[in-house]
Amino acid sequence: MAENNIVILGAGYGGIRVAKQLSTILSEGEDYKIILVDKHDYHTLMTQLYEPAAGATELNDAMVPLREIIDGLNVKFIKGTVENIDLRNKVVALNSGDIKIPFKYLVNALGSEPEYFNIEGLKENSISLSSLKNAAKIRCRVEKILEQAACLPPEEREITFVVGGGGLTGVEFAGELAFQLQRERDRYQIEKHHYKIILVEGSKNLLPGMSPAVYRYAQKTLEDLGVEVITGDLIQKATPETIYLASGREINYTAFIWAGGIRGSGVASKSGLKTDSRGRVLVNQFLQYVDDPYVYALGDGALVKDPKTGQPVIATAQAAMQQGNVVARNIYADIIGIKKKVYRPSLIFLLIHIGRHQAVGEPVNKMKKLKLKGFYAAWIKNLIPLKYSLRLGGFRMLFRRLFPNKNVKYELYKCNNYK
Ligand SMILES: Cc1cc2nc3c(=O)[nH]c(=O)nc-3n(C[C@H](O)[C@H](O)[C@H](O)COP(=O)(O)OP(=O)(O)OC[C@H]3O[C@@H](n4cnc5c(N)ncnc54)[C@H](O)[C@@H]3O)c2cc1C
Repeated sequence: MAENNIVILGAGYGGIRVAKQLSTILSEGEDYKIILVDKHDYHTLMTQLYEPAAGATELNDAMVPLREIIDGLNVKFIKGTVENIDLRNKVVALNSGDIKIPFKYLVNALGSEPEYFNIEGLKENSISLSSLKNAAKIRCRVEKILEQAACLPPEEREITFVVGGGGLTGVEFAGELAFQLQRERDRYQIEKHHYKIILVEGSKNLLPGMSPAVYRYAQKTLEDLGVEVITGDLIQKATPETIYLASGREINYTAFIWAGGIRGSGVASKSGLKTDSRGRVLVNQFLQYVDDPYVYALGDGALVKDPKTGQPVIATAQAAMQQGNVVARNIYADIIGIKKKVYRPSLIFLLIHIGRHQAVGEPVNKMKKLKLKGFYAAWIKNLIPLKYSLRLGGFRMLFRRLFPNKNVKYELYKCNNYK
């Protein structure tokens, strides 16, 4: 029955968690249909994007076909791009209105898009590390630059990669790129003095919000890998060749990767839902949209506050999955008429990879004295995608992650698509 549809928009960390939990708790006899919608028929392991972008792993390693996750669950998948959410008529429109899905309950788990802060030329001249497709674009660009440089006489090889934003994403990408370039030196016949990697962060320190022990370790490790770290300087303008910083410094670049911020997916605000200035849907403590108790939002696309501190919960895969559990539980509570649960973030531990063999991290909301760094931290970091796989897709997804199906090929990695 269409009016009993539970429609989940977005098959990211949060959306899949809701679908999986609901499929488990809603018994067979319940008259509800769970519908999961995404523009892709695969789940992106967003937390790993820096690896294929820097050429450390294959793109296929950062994706899992959705059928492998939802097979056996009581969930129907619809592939399509969400264009509009019509709250009044309780309908979601996909693909310019081609498909309309009525709903009783709706979960907005559409994640984020890059935030460009209205900086002149930033969007047009950078590639944001925000999707698998963009990871492919970055990789193609890096490879092309290196191939072209290899054809030049050594004294003319001058490559500058600029990474904008020294948060988690920027630090991981800059570190991985530095490590990969060292590893690929023979293949591309490049020496250390032929290229520069510059990481630019506007705040006083890298990894804003993390403790001095963590950001100092991150900076030192990056510098040991040959990355120039600029902090406390804002990018004010970008042209196709040059980045202009607030300090007056101008950097001529060969490729510019943007990892400096995110905002909630634009679908909610375009559809007239109430959002904050960063496009995040306003929700209450049960993760219900403030103007409609049948609509929930979570993850990067929602302004979720920690009831203890009143501060927004940091946008992470860990938080999105925790929120997914609560949303599923609260929809079920609503259906059977029991009390809903308040979302209280449990431990969120951020571990940042810097090159292959180093990592550093700490919890961001509890037990803040705990720190991990060095080789062992990197080893633990490598286990995290396995943990996500297990939590999102059970042993089947874990198995898929450990033994990727090389026959499943997506047409993302064709560099001639990205001229
Ligand atoms: C390089 C990098 C490293 C990171 N490292 C970590 C880490 O170490 N630890 C951590 O906890 N977090 C990390 N994060 C953050 C984490 O990835 C995000 O917080 C998390 O993905 C948010 O989950 P979500 O479910 O809200 O959205 P997402 O996982 O982004 O999922 C959103 C889904 O919605 C779909 N979608 C979007 N728009 C539409 C549309 N219009 N129509 C249909 N479908 C749509 C997308 O295809 C996607 O499947 C990292 C992020 C990046 C980029």
